[in-house]
Amino acid sequence: MKQIAVMGAGTMGLGIAHIMAQYGLQVSLIDLSEKILIKSKKIISINIDRQIRKGVINEEQKKHILSNILFTKEFNESVKNADLIVEAVPENFELKKNIIKNLDSLCNNNVIISSNTSSLSISSLADKTHHPDRIIGMHFMNPVPIMPLVEIVVGNSTSEKTIDSIKVLTNKINKTPLVVRDSPGFVSNRILLPMINEAIETLSQGVADVYSIDQIMRLGMGHPMGPLRLADLIGLDVCLSVLKVLENGFGDKKYAPNQLLIKMVEEGQLGYKTKKGFYGYDKDVKNPYPIEFNI
Ligand code: NAD
Repeated sequence: MKQIAVMGAGTMGLGIAHIMAQYGLQVSLIDLSEKILIKSKKIISINIDRQIRKGVINEEQKKHILSNILFTKEFNESVKNADLIVEAVPENFELKKNIIKNLDSLCNNNVIISSNTSSLSISSLADKTHHPDRIIGMHFMNPVPIMPLVEIVVGNSTSEKTIDSIKVLTNKINKTPLVVRDSPGFVSNRILLPMINEAIETLSQGVADVYSIDQIMRLGMGHPMGPLRLADLIGLDVCLSVLKVLENGFGDKKYAPNQLLIKMVEEGQLGYKTKKGFYGYDKDVKNPYPIEFNI
């Protein structure tokens, strides 16, 4: 595989483009507006500078990485010659389904179409396409340049050939591929989100405050960050939508999202991206302060 098209230059898409380009692949990073593309180039450049400061790469490599990425709004041209497409548009079933259906008719005969969905069914996304055998989940973790895992999600019709090609590519970009069956939340979010939901429930019951809950999980369980801080980083809207997928997918109330989480999302407190969630980020982004909840 040489030519990669990444759809969506948001948090995940720009990270995926960055890491692919870092390992010598030619990437077209596609989004809807020039403004988003300019911003994504700026963020990739800042992220590369951070890698340089850490000694992961050097100045010379920065030029190569950036020259390997074409930032473009041109959808048809970019996907036509791609060997692999990674869609990283927002977590909306209809949006992703339409994009995949469209790609299925536009692309060359050997293309693999992968989705970076955090929770949606790969089999359903591939349903009624002409080549469901070449559709697969590539669930990258945030921040992409740093996190070593790609959770490879295999739909009902995904072929062995597709799985093998994606494993080879994942190793090439220095990440570890772990293959899982298509099931709500896959492995990562099926285990992570109930823990976050339970942390919110613990807070709601007034058992402990935000600071104490997170510190207990950090200092007592060795987690690099507490579940409430992690929820802020993921985005409370994303946490809510994954919990709904788990609840509906398994038909089990044990996954029902906590009321406090629902209320915070309704009020637009989505975590880091809105500067307020379980922590406030308006004073110092790197040192957020825990919010006091009057339970
Ligand atoms: P985001 O909102 O930051 O970025 C999505 C981008 O897609 C936006 O820039 C938007 O303009 C663009 N877009 C929308 N429609 C498009 C179209 N038709 N063609 C091209 N671009 C289009 O979202 P994100 O956080 O990067 O998430 C993307 C996907 O990755 C979602 O499926 C999400 O569930 C998954 N994911 C997110 C995380 C995370 O921590 N953010 C982690 C793992 C997986």
